[in-house]
Amino acid sequence: MKNRKLVLAIVGLMVFALAAVAKAAEVPGEKSAAGVEALEQEAVSLLSEYLRIDTTNPPGNEIKAAEFFKAIFDREGIEARILESTPGRGNIYARLKGDGSKKAVVLMNHMDVVPADRRYWSVDPFAGVVKDGYVWGRGALDMKGMGIVELMAMLALKRQGIPLKADVIFLGVADEEAGGAMGARFMVQEHFDLLKDAGTVLNEFSFISVGDDGKVLHYDVEIFQKAPLWLKLTATGTPGHGSMPRPDSAVVKLIEALHRIVSYQTPLKVEPVVQKFYADTADLEPSPERRQRLKDLRASLQNRAFALEFSEDRWDNAAVRNTISITMLEGSNKVNVIPPQATAQLDVRLLPSEDPQRFLDELQKVIGDESIKIEPVLSFPPSASPTNSEFFKILQEVANSHDPGVKVTTPLLVGFTDCHYFREKGIPCYGFMPFKLTDKEASLLHGNDERLSVENVKFGTRVMYEIVRKLAAQ
Ligand SMILES: [Zn+2]
Repeated sequence: MKNRKLVLAIVGLMVFALAAVAKAAEVPGEKSAAGVEALEQEAVSLLSEYLRIDTTNPPGNEIKAAEFFKAIFDREGIEARILESTPGRGNIYARLKGDGSKKAVVLMNHMDVVPADRRYWSVDPFAGVVKDGYVWGRGALDMKGMGIVELMAMLALKRQGIPLKADVIFLGVADEEAGGAMGARFMVQEHFDLLKDAGTVLNEFSFISVGDDGKVLHYDVEIFQKAPLWLKLTATGTPGHGSMPRPDSAVVKLIEALHRIVSYQTPLKVEPVVQKFYADTADLEPSPERRQRLKDLRASLQNRAFALEFSEDRWDNAAVRNTISITMLEGSNKVNVIPPQATAQLDVRLLPSEDPQRFLDELQKVIGDESIKIEPVLSFPPSASPTNSEFFKILQEVANSHDPGVKVTTPLLVGFTDCHYFREKGIPCYGFMPFKLTDKEASLLHGNDERLSVENVKFGTRVMYEIVRKLAAQ
């Protein structure tokens, strides 16, 4: 800390002094080190405060988080409003005006978090504890930390009175962890008038990948993700008493169908972006043989032994094929009753180029029993964002200014985020969180003791500001 006395004085004077000092810093990272440091410190305090708001979904209660942001925007003189999709499920929308010569930049983040079981945490997951160089709490990584660095970018632009070409929109949404119906989908479907001028949306999920030795490996951006095709399988049969088994009961038929599905291996397919990701990162492989193979993954997977070895890693496997997880089962609710119906639900994830109908036909063939009914429970089309965009160029510039020569890579996201709602409307959405994480740190996402380092909050505040400023003011 270069200017400890000044920072202590600022902390003592609280918000007004913070605002004044931040105003004095024309450009974080360029002119006033003290101003940048104050802004970064403010980000750490705000994240700690934000993590104390319990927005576990279900039930969500994101309205409390929306009110937290609204109070900050009101204090800073930024026009903001709360939009409730249903009572308690708030979304926050704030807009900084530009001259309109460029399309708006949306800083999106979801305010809900997944549940945390206090018994397995070493700190209270909703106390916003700052210790050992980390800010601890459910949502620190997913994605309240990102919400705060987006907020700081907006506040810094406003406080410095930077003339903007593009409007900058802060969009905190509810319900992402349950699919976004009450959040991003509600905003895009019911309030598209507020977002239709958007040219770029920034959102979770990828981040800056760091080796165990602390060396930066690559800046990851999510530009395309697999599409969910969640299915419900229903078998029917003659019911009866459990004391006299039926070889053709609903449960038996369902189990036979599921057995065929489990024994089935979906074909390998390397999409162009996946091929490129492995080629881009091949040089980081310690084994020379594997390095060579990853440079042309499509060709290498023709080798059966390598294909088997490659698929052993669950993420690698999910990147090169459609996947099926059997997750829910329901039969009789009494041990001595053969039920008339048995159901299973499948979490299917399709590669971006896959056609859902073609996959359903294939699955029907695998099951080989026309009496089993297959119904989609959730399905939306795959979506992607372009790499030949201004955002991509800016990210490459910013990445190089912090880590010279580093590559910006585009791993396939095997899950999905709220980005698809915007991509379906033709608005590019990018998943990039400006945090440097080792595999171990990243694995705490949704896990116990989720935390984000203070250093990352500060670095993220700087990088997000740089990106947004370049996108909106140049
Ligand atoms: Zn998330």
